[in-house]
Amino acid sequence: MPKIRVTKIFEFDTAHTLHNYDGLCSNIHGHTYKLHVTVIGEPIADISSPKYGMVVDFGVLKNKIKENLIDKFDHSLIVSNSEDTSFIESNKAIFKRIHVVDFQPTAENIVAHFAELIKRRHRTFQPKALRNINIFRRMVRRRQ
Ligand SMILES: [Zn+2]
Repeated sequence: MPKIRVTKIFEFDTAHTLHNYDGLCSNIHGHTYKLHVTVIGEPIADISSPKYGMVVDFGVLKNKIKENLIDKFDHSLIVSNSEDTSFIESNKAIFKRIHVVDFQPTAENIVAHFAELIKRRHRTFQPKALRNINIFRRMVRRRQ
């Protein structure tokens, strides 16, 4: 059986600021992101399985990514812990959703962070029958 790729695309809005950046992106601003989560595997061949013919249950994939990532990062502010403490604390007082991360929150680093979070949790949404699954991700930043 050939390996099949299935992709679920998520969209969310997030603000960030780039610490020490030499341009306008050092100010708080936002983007609409598209997160592509692709799972590769062979469709389940066991006809008695309720997931027969699926690489992954789209519903489970959708719910887990939404619950673990999208719902937490949508309409949030992501700032690096390299920012001044007073900057971070004042924004914590203003914004209900703020993520202080230990990296520069570029699209590249955000998607790498998401990939780590997905890898840590992916066993919870993969059918046990599947083996050798890889998760790929891509984030496209839209020009506003
Ligand atoms: Zn930006």
